[in-house]
Parts: sequence; C-alpha cells; structure tokens
Amino acid sequence: MNAFVEVYSDESLFQAKQVDKKISKGKAGKLAGLVFAIKDNICYKGHKVSAGSKILKGFESLFTATAVQKLLDQDAIIIGRLNCDEFGMGSANENTIYGAVKNPYNDSKVAGGSSGGSAAAVSAGLCLVALGSDTGGSIRQPASFCGIVGLKPTYSRVSRHGLIAYASSFDQIGPLANNVDDASLVLEVIAGADNFDSTVSRRKPENYSRANFDNKPKKIAYISECLDREGLDPEIKEFLKCKISQLKKKGHSVDPISLPELDLLVPVYYIISTAEASSNLARFDGVHYGYRSESASDLENTYINSRTEGFGEEVKRRIMLGTFVLSADYHDSYFTKAQKIRRLIQNKTKAMFEKYDFIISPTTPHTAFSIGKKHTNPTTMYLEDIFTVQANLAGNPAISLPLAKHSNGMPIGLQVMANNFKEGDMLSFSKYLSD
Ligand code: GLN
Repeated sequence: MNAFVEVYSDESLFQAKQVDKKISKGKAGKLAGLVFAIKDNICYKGHKVSAGSKILKGFESLFTATAVQKLLDQDAIIIGRLNCDEFGMGSANENTIYGAVKNPYNDSKVAGGSSGGSAAAVSAGLCLVALGSDTGGSIRQPASFCGIVGLKPTYSRVSRHGLIAYASSFDQIGPLANNVDDASLVLEVIAGADNFDSTVSRRKPENYSRANFDNKPKKIAYISECLDREGLDPEIKEFLKCKISQLKKKGHSVDPISLPELDLLVPVYYIISTAEASSNLARFDGVHYGYRSESASDLENTYINSRTEGFGEEVKRRIMLGTFVLSADYHDSYFTKAQKIRRLIQNKTKAMFEKYDFIISPTTPHTAFSIGKKHTNPTTMYLEDIFTVQANLAGNPAISLPLAKHSNGMPIGLQVMANNFKEGDMLSFSKYLSD
C-alpha cells in the first residue's frame, strides 16, 4: 500500500522486549504493547523525517515531538513512519516522493490525505494507532476514506512541538485508530500543556477513555447547505438523512441550521493556510536542512536551485499563492479579507454551539476516488475539504466515524463536531453512535 516509508524493525522488537520486562514487574505504562506509527511530518529524535519531500532528504530529527514522547513514556511501541502528502499539502496522498498510498479497501483508490499512510496502516491492521496531523481535514478525510476513526482535537489541545509546521494557526496532531476507545485513550495521553509549545492550552485534559454517554437527549444540528450541496454523492446524502431520523427516533433533537458562507470556507482556508505556509517553509533554504542543489555555487542560487529542485509542484504552487496574498498590493484584498471572514466563521460556529451539542455532516462529499483522477486539477482537489475545514478555521474538535459502506464497496464517514474542549462529550457521543 505504500503506507510505511520506514520500519524500525530491530528497534521496535528491542523496545517490545523492554516493555515485556516492565509488564512482568508490574511496572508497565498504560499504553504497554500498543503498536503505533507516526506520520512522516512528526519528529522522532535520531530518526529520519522528510514530510514526504525531497527537500528534507537525509534529515534526521534533533528532538522528539511531545506527542510521540508522551506515547513512549506510557510504553507504546513505535514501529515506523508513514507516507503523507508533502508538508501535509493534499487530499489524496499523491503529492509525495514515495508514490501514492493505496487504499486498503481497493488498491486502485486513494487513501486520502494528507495523513494517507497513517489511515491505510491502521485500516490494514499494520499498527493499532497512528499519529497524523490535521490542518484542513488531513486526519478525518483519510480516516473516512479508509474506514477508520480519525480525531482532530481542539486547536491547542495537543502540543505541536515536533510537528513540521504547515499552517501554524490550524495544525493539530491527533490519532487515527480502529475504534473510538483507542482514539480516546491516545488523546488522553497526548493532550495537555507543554513547555515547548506556548500555544498549548493549560486546561487539564479529561479522562477521555472513561467518558461515558449519559443517555440524555442531545441537541444536534446539521448544516443544510452541506446536505443540499451539489456534488454530494446521493448515497452519502441518504446515509446522513437516515442518521438524522435514527437520532430523532432515539429522542434527540436534530435541527437544520444555515451557514450561507459554506462556499467561502475553502477559499478562505486556502488563502490563510498558504500565507502561513509561505512563511513556515522559508526555512528550507538548502543551507539549514536536508537537500542542497548540486548546482549551488553562491548564496542566491543555493536558495533558488535547492528550493526549485527540492519542493514538489503542489508545495511550490502554495508558496507562490501564499506569497502573493501577502504581497503589499494584494494583502488587504486577500489576506486581510480572509482573516475577517475567518473571524466571522469563528463567531458563527461559537453561536451554533451555544444552542447545540454537536454538528453532524458527512466527512467527505464522496468516497475514495481513483488514484490519478483529481491529481491534475488543484481546484477540484481543494474542494475535497469542504466539510472538514470549518473545524480548522474555528479551532473546534471534530471526529470522523466509519459508520457505513457505499454500494461501491468503499467506507463512508460521519463527522461529528463539538464545542471547543468538549472532546469528552464528543467521544462519548461517538461511542454511542458507533455501538
Ligand atoms: N487537504 C488540505 C490541504 O491540502 C488539508 C491538509 C491538511 O489537513 N494537512 O491543505
């Protein structure tokens, strides 16, 4: 499937033996024996990390990401790193130097992106849990395509220390797992304050793994523009309608609400995220990290040639787009305007959660598509994120649950979004939905 780009064979067996010893002494951590792997944009000291890019060729992490360290501290066993779209930019895991990840349900289909390797590995049973990152949907969309659970925590719930930055005001690390229990347990371990990341919330994480559904009727909403959207697969639409009537039958209220700005979400996301990316990716200059062009002879052409040869096409497109929207002449008409709309979306989302416990939608407008099909058209690819980006623009937690199968044999995901820091409620409701 092309899911793993590196397997830590001997090392993981050694680690497993150490954990065995701890178990026999009754001293093992709460994740003892949990086999996990990490997306190739998360750092693990002394191991290679490339963000799926040639520009990081040969680069080794100088420190371990806090989320990874917290899993290791609880005796989870790390077995390798996983393919992803270059710097997290993509929705199909095709923008990678390692070749496209194949979907375990059908190897002519994409696994989704950008955490495609993470989703495929968990779905195929190659590891129990994988860490991914979600900037605009990169945990939830591949989870949906591969029939597993994918959780994006509230922005600032999990430390981003050691995550190679794409768009810093959106990026979050989160788990991809076979079930809600595993995702809850991993979140419980990785969440919480970190001296290495000043943006992490100091709010104490809940015991997510013990969150139980209280069986009280919930107030649920769905955005009618999502359901009425042109291009939504008819079976997925039917699936959502069914879920709505099932929930109503069980005594919950489910109301349609309106978000007329739905069509603005993707453009706003792509203006702000590319602006942030153009700044974050400036550090890859052929001097500090990884790849340097053979034809580098002076400073200027070291930068130009290394970046031209080292970055893939999509990354270059985004750096140029981001630089353009930040340029003096266009700053106000694109970047500032997009920031204003982001605030508007944040306010509207906040208002939604004053009235409702959860917002449900399909995770994606259709099931996994064929490899190579959308690769040629960036705009079609960007529209993949239509249902997932609201949570990133507003910062809310959201989860994708594998709750149905399409007649084409591919999985369908339901997305549940909750109020900020309400992961506990979101996870207990997710368990209830999955039972
Ligand atoms: N598909 C989106 C993008 O390409 C989301 C990526 C992500 O969440 N990292 O930017």
